Amino acid sequence: MNLFNQTIIAMEQLSSQLLEMPLHRRRFIFRSTQTLLSVALFGNMYGADASGMVASHDAMTGAGPGDKIILPPLEAKTEQEKGPLPNPDPIDQRVGYAVVGLGHLALEEVLPAFAASKKSKLVALVSGDRDKALIVARQYGVDAKNIYTYENYDTIKDNKEVEAIYIILPNGMHAEYTIRGAKAGKHILCEKPMANSVSECEQMIKACTDANRKLMIAYRIQYEPNNADIKKMVRDEEYGKVKTIVAVNGQNTGDPKQWRLNKKLAGGGSLPDVGIYCLNTIRYLTGEEPTEVFAQISTDTSDERFKEVEDTVLFQLTFPSGIHAICTSSYSHHQSRNYRVYAERAYFGMDPAFAYGGLQIHKSYAKGEEEISETPKRTPKNHFALEMDHFSQCIREDKKPYTPGEEGLQDMKIIEAIYASAIQGKPIPLKKYPGKDLFRGTDPENLK
Ligand code: NAD
Repeated sequence: MNLFNQTIIAMEQLSSQLLEMPLHRRRFIFRSTQTLLSVALFGNMYGADASGMVASHDAMTGAGPGDKIILPPLEAKTEQEKGPLPNPDPIDQRVGYAVVGLGHLALEEVLPAFAASKKSKLVALVSGDRDKALIVARQYGVDAKNIYTYENYDTIKDNKEVEAIYIILPNGMHAEYTIRGAKAGKHILCEKPMANSVSECEQMIKACTDANRKLMIAYRIQYEPNNADIKKMVRDEEYGKVKTIVAVNGQNTGDPKQWRLNKKLAGGGSLPDVGIYCLNTIRYLTGEEPTEVFAQISTDTSDERFKEVEDTVLFQLTFPSGIHAICTSSYSHHQSRNYRVYAERAYFGMDPAFAYGGLQIHKSYAKGEEEISETPKRTPKNHFALEMDHFSQCIREDKKPYTPGEEGLQDMKIIEAIYASAIQGKPIPLKKYPGKDLFRGTDPENLK
């Protein structure tokens, strides 16, 4: 009798006893039997290891929030691993989100990302446009009774389905909607930049602390695996000490009437909108806080787009370990979103680095007479699903998010110093902080 037949007979014998057993015991036996069957059917040919476990399966044991599905691998062990199945949490156990603001980011990226999330679900919408909200609600299966306006937003406190609020409004509205949301008893995920000023950031942190609610700033780059790989290369000094990091983020901005070019709604020009990626990502890669900034701003004020906010910003950051960063942000050059790290024995980075997709590391180093150029490719992941699921997990496990309000506040302090440096035409010293990751919470790596 072969292993397959033996397994079928064993399953039949077990089935009559299973119903008598407690649920957790039944699950364990069911999983173990699945494993045996998988090995019997596919193991020898396609990658079962010597212990009898099937490669890539991470869910054979251990109690999760529900049963996990296991499929046998299709490809040989020589192929790139796909990783385990997503196995999302059951829908009734996920954190329910209200999304505030149904503009480009919400409709193009965040709402579709709920389909890729494992711990988060969309349950409510907040919009000033009832007709648009009704269409979106039907598209994403949101109950029409869970549509709110900016005026009745505070009544969301009575909606038990909503545990978290994701604020995707113009920057100048982040503080008000965070504070009102925290007072309504909800956890807050707020888009970058956190707000328009240090003072607003402090008020947001206080409101969430007073309400005993969590606050996370949506720095999606800090939850993205390629950037995590580069962070590791930098921190482990894989190619020696890092000397310089150069980062660019900009695009040629259109419609002069959009809120991004309105000082009250945007807080500034390219710096808080896209330059913040250079600043925040370099702080993340190094874990260090800059001790000095030096900046220049270049704006053609005859251009009707730049009546209120700046165009191009060039800023340098000095870090305690001796790393220097050179960054630019702009609203008037062709779209470019990249960074490169220059270390003692290699340079590495990504282009694009800050886009929603298409990220791929490039590194170059010498080996004998050759200069080796590598472009390792990862299976792409949805940045927004990763960041939302991190926040949901922190809510469920009562952990501090990796990018809490304090992380957004620190960026805003540095942004204010960058403006001050450009105005005064001299370097501005910053408060010195010893150690690394001082403003961050639980590392996503520890929450898998
Ligand atoms: P958007 O203009 O497309 O959407 C803004 C939404 O706010 C719209 O639905 C608009 O109707 C609503 N709104 C309410 N009151 C408004 C007012 N007084 N003026 C203008 N709009 C008003 O903007 P967006 O690109 O979706 O950006 C929203 C936020 O998301 C910003 O804070 C931005 O920095 C951030 N963002 C983050 C990323 C990222 O990758 N994390 C990318 C893009 C935007």
